[in-house]
Amino acid sequence: MDKKRYQGSCACGRVRFEADVDISQGTHKCNCTHCWKRRWWSVKVEPTDFRVLSGEDALDPSGRFCGACGVATHRHAPVAEWNPTAYVSVSAASLDDLPPAELVAAKVTYYDGRHDNWWSTPAEVRHL
Ligand SMILES: [Zn+2]
Ligand SMILES: [Zn+2]
Repeated sequence: MDKKRYQGSCACGRVRFEADVDISQGTHKCNCTHCWKRRWWSVKVEPTDFRVLSGEDALDPSGRFCGACGVATHRHAPVAEWNPTAYVSVSAASLDDLPPAELVAAKVTYYDGRHDNWWSTPAEVRHL
């Protein structure tokens, strides 16, 4: 475990956060309609390692994206039947000081959400 603190933001800068991430633990992509249409590429962060610094009031009521610029920065994943541990799914693209070289060096886990087959790798992943 080698967590580093990253600064994150939406495109207009109203929403700002920091997150402690071990990027070597890998990143996540899913082919379901929601993830594909927003090109969601995420890292999993423990809830205690994620802090919104400003712009909480700029978030859309769903809490998933900036109401001003529309960029989705993060999403809270509470404990659920399929999810034993709560986490925050953070958009890798919103991490401002994450060097692209570190991002692409991390392993990507793919989910076949489009076919409701979440724990399998989709047949095609190159577009994700
Ligand atoms: Zn914004
Ligand atoms: Zn998805």
